[in-house]
Amino acid sequence: MRIDDKKCIACEACVPVCTMAAITLDDVAAIDQSECVECGVCFRSGVCPVDAFERAEADWPRSLRSVFSDPTLSHSQTNVPGRGTEEMKTNDVTGVFRPGMVGIGLEFGRPGIGTRFRDVDLVAQAMAREGAQFRPENPVTFLMTDTSTGKLREDILDEKVLSAIIEFTIPIDRMKSVLATLREVSPKVDTVFSVECINVIEPDGSVPMDRILDELSIAHYPNGKTNLGLGRRPT
Ligand code: SF4
Ligand code: SF4
Repeated sequence: MRIDDKKCIACEACVPVCTMAAITLDDVAAIDQSECVECGVCFRSGVCPVDAFERAEADWPRSLRSVFSDPTLSHSQTNVPGRGTEEMKTNDVTGVFRPGMVGIGLEFGRPGIGTRFRDVDLVAQAMAREGAQFRPENPVTFLMTDTSTGKLREDILDEKVLSAIIEFTIPIDRMKSVLATLREVSPKVDTVFSVECINVIEPDGSVPMDRILDELSIAHYPNGKTNLGLGRRPT
């Protein structure tokens, strides 16, 4: 994103709108290009009274910033907007996560802090060593040079985005080790990330992974979010 400094009248209206606090005001407004994640909020909001924002076409690898940060754009590989796949929320229909397996989503960055792919890379490699089977349709998986190591392309590591999600599947008996490894690497991660887990409930309504989370004293809220799949599960 760019600001035409010949148009800017320094009204300050755009400063609080920026999702990354990347706009500063001196004589005119300016954008810290290292921090800007190309989310387009300043442009789309129409907050500027003189239309000073210009959306410039970005070359690779900076072009990654907008597809991960601007929900109005789609990833060229998946043709899906957003940061991850939808299966985490629609397993009743897709049946991607089978009994005995746990699906894990690691969600990096939030407005105000974002994430660089260097942090995503660090955790993805740690998860690969735990035997993670990365979801092939996930946009971060497309950026791996080798899904058996979780290594991301070297040329993207300094790119910053609003948020990115790693998605993978593991056997439920690996869950304890995976969570322990996440705790171990988290102090080295220079942003916030959250952990989402999904597994198929037993016929009696119990949740298999609850026992593991209880053993690790991890607070969890099984009724926190429920997405009902309104369709027929494939046979
Ligand atoms: S594109 Fe997003 S991050 Fe960049 S200046 Fe505009 S609001 Fe801020
Ligand atoms: S809203 Fe437009 S005119 Fe006002 S400070 Fe921002 S860029 Fe300048």
